Amino acid sequence: AAAQLGYHIHIYAPDAESVAAQVAAQHTQAAWDDEPRLAAFAAACDVVTYEFENVPVDTVRFLSGHVAVRPGAGVLEIAQDRLAEKNFVAGLGGRPAPFAAVPDRAALDAALDQVGAPAILKTVRMGYDGKGQARLAAAGDADAAWDAIDRHAAVLEGFVTFAHEFSVLMVRGIDGETRFWDSSVNVHEGGILATSSLPPPRQILDQQDEARALLAKIADDLDYIGVLTGEFFATDDGPIFNEMAPRVHNSGHWTIEGAVTSQFENHIRAVAGLPLGDTATVALPVVMRNLIGHDIDGVPELLADGAAHVHHYGKAEVRAGRKLGHVTWAGTSPA
Ligand code: ATP
Ligand code: MG
Ligand code: MG
Repeated sequence: AAAQLGYHIHIYAPDAESVAAQVAAQHTQAAWDDEPRLAAFAAACDVVTYEFENVPVDTVRFLSGHVAVRPGAGVLEIAQDRLAEKNFVAGLGGRPAPFAAVPDRAALDAALDQVGAPAILKTVRMGYDGKGQARLAAAGDADAAWDAIDRHAAVLEGFVTFAHEFSVLMVRGIDGETRFWDSSVNVHEGGILATSSLPPPRQILDQQDEARALLAKIADDLDYIGVLTGEFFATDDGPIFNEMAPRVHNSGHWTIEGAVTSQFENHIRAVAGLPLGDTATVALPVVMRNLIGHDIDGVPELLADGAAHVHHYGKAEVRAGRKLGHVTWAGTSPA
């Protein structure tokens, strides 16, 4: 998206390996701490952004002393920590699921007394695609759940009975102008996003405004610049905040073909201080399906459908549960 607008791009990555390897490998920390290399990178850039929320906050703070970084380090620090995020959002009037901090095994018993069962135990840091989570049907599952998340500091969340899940996808410009894309209904399979579709059910349309107001409040409070995503549960009691991502989001991939301006282009427009593009949906229905694990073997078949926009990420290794591509239909309904 940046290249389309004529920008030259420098990418700072600790190594040539995948993001998953970066998360796992401790040796990459040295690259995040390499001040001369970071300073040289900053000197080569007019503006820096990030598209991965586990870049160390200290790295972003260091860069911020040399070059504009948008969005900033503050939101990153909050979004890296589920507990900080829930407290922050609750402080702004948002409604997360009932939750309690679980810094150690003893705290899990107290948290279960407070939150009740069923519940979900989530590591405070680093989880994605449902990894670092364990479900508890009853208090008797506490030991197994604590072991399942490798005894990391966690947060216990009450299990929300929801009808649907949806995203609020927002972009906020350098002058504070805020625009929203239409909300998709998101279906997860095994904790991983499977599909994002529009139009969403009526209940989501009815709850979209309240969820948008919360996301705009979050963004204004942080003077956020760029694309910000909020994940919500639509319940009989209104929208419940699940989590946010300070970046373009998988549930917004449909905007590449389904919206006038994609999330990627508007993120670049925002961080570069350009006018924002139109976020209107160009054609309904829209369906985005992730290609997870061996779904990727279906690409030849998908390509035979002239209306399918296939995105193959070219990742070297096919693993169960790994996102390897996605396919979008906009204006036509896949069988
Ligand atoms: P992502 O890849 O979106 O960052 P994640 O690993 O951070 O995922 P969550 O979004 O917290 O995980 O949870 C993944 C999915 O599990 C949710 O989209 C939802 O389907 C389900 N889930 C999570 N928390 C709850 C809850 N409190 N009640 C009911 N279902 C939940
Ligand atoms: Mg998440
Ligand atoms: Mg999520």
